[in-house]
Amino acid sequence: MKIAVVGTGYVGLVTGTCFAEVGIDVTCIDIDQKKIDNLHKGILPIYEPGLEEMVTRNVEKGRLSFSTNLADGIKDCDVAFIAVGTPPGEDGSADLKYVLAVARGIGEHMNSYGVIVTKSTVPVGTAAKVRAEIEKALAQRGQSIEFDVASNPEFLKEGAAIDDFLKPDRIVVGVASERAEEVMSKLYKPFLLNGHPIIFMDIPSAEMTKYAANSMLATKISFMNDIANLCEIMGADVNMVRKGIGSDARIGTKFIYPGIGYGGSCFPKDVKALIKTAAENGYQMQVLKAVESVNEAQKEVLFDKVTKHFGGELKGRKIAIWGLSFKPKTDDMREAPSLVIIEKLLAEGCTVSAYDPVAVAEAKHTLGDTITYAKDEFDALIDADALLIVTEWPEFRSPNFEVVARLMKQKVIFDGRNIYDAKELHAAGFAYHCIGIRTDH
Ligand code: NAD
Repeated sequence: MKIAVVGTGYVGLVTGTCFAEVGIDVTCIDIDQKKIDNLHKGILPIYEPGLEEMVTRNVEKGRLSFSTNLADGIKDCDVAFIAVGTPPGEDGSADLKYVLAVARGIGEHMNSYGVIVTKSTVPVGTAAKVRAEIEKALAQRGQSIEFDVASNPEFLKEGAAIDDFLKPDRIVVGVASERAEEVMSKLYKPFLLNGHPIIFMDIPSAEMTKYAANSMLATKISFMNDIANLCEIMGADVNMVRKGIGSDARIGTKFIYPGIGYGGSCFPKDVKALIKTAAENGYQMQVLKAVESVNEAQKEVLFDKVTKHFGGELKGRKIAIWGLSFKPKTDDMREAPSLVIIEKLLAEGCTVSAYDPVAVAEAKHTLGDTITYAKDEFDALIDADALLIVTEWPEFRSPNFEVVARLMKQKVIFDGRNIYDAKELHAAGFAYHCIGIRTDH
């Protein structure tokens, strides 16, 4: 089979590379010339564990290529994926301008039957708009090439994207014709051999499934953060509560860890977009509105703890931050809680010295030189009044606390991810604050 993936970001590059890995002929297309030039040199636009080796291998095998030329890329394709961004517009709805521009381009250049698949996260009704856009472009060319549209939302997690793509919990595909279903079945067959299921459904249901999945996950996080905050007030230990409820199979152990709020390129924008879609159609998503407001407040919890600890006197304090990306094993800084915390610290006159294993280049786009970027985690600690754990990178989990204590001016840790043991840190002479557990006694 021959496919094109339009949009070579986190989703498009992983999708294209994983299809090439199973032997499919893939062209990844992007309008960003620099991104494509770099990919030709073997330089990836994103950090994703294992991806670089896989890209190199498939390029060498001749199964994976990169181009800015949509016309060449989609020629004779069985399937063309649209994997461009769908950022939130000013009113919170998903901005479809990139998706529809690609659809128009496909209509202008396609030369044979193919299935045009939205892989981007798009609201219900988008596939119909994609179809209309392609038909319009074909009509302008005086052509009547047959095609199908399909919706195939992506559920990969940054940081574990390759495994998620190659061994998916499920593949969801929305189709409106048997022919499209056959093409998509054939395409995904290599990923199904070990029992991973593909679920075919109608297109609107597939489009909705992605929003429902992300909204459910965001709900779990906000719910647990709400419980954590109450635990702290009431003197309960949220870690115990988490274990207590997680052992109930109906609840499960995953995604019930308290923290400093969800971020990233998906949950915030998808929750917003679903609230907006509902409102436009006369329905209020009351649970999701609460999920969003709990999350906004949660991003400030760590800062509030810092303020309380220092009696409101923050001016001139040096704060060390471990972790900038919105979660470990990615360099994605979109909507990262670190940005909110840092902005508040700087506004109070603190200086910030931060370390992140991979996200510094991305962070600089937003934070510029407002903070110092340390060369390693220990460098960040020198003369710091406090250490904030913002992203739970594995290498932060068991540092040498004697070295930490020696480097810092004051032995104070604010742990936004609950990765340390309060008893151990108290024994080492640290003041230790975390989420959902009283540690000041
Ligand atoms: P991204 O910003 O990393 O990549 C999008 C790419 O599309 C960019 O490289 C951009 O240059 C390119 N592009 C824009 N317009 C184009 C055009 N007209 N022609 C060709 N290329 C064009 O975005 P992403 O994180 O990969 O997300 C893409 C979509 O997938 C979004 O809808 C997102 O919600 C969804 N999604 C993302 C994730 C994730 O973890 N990042 C997971 C599941 C779904």
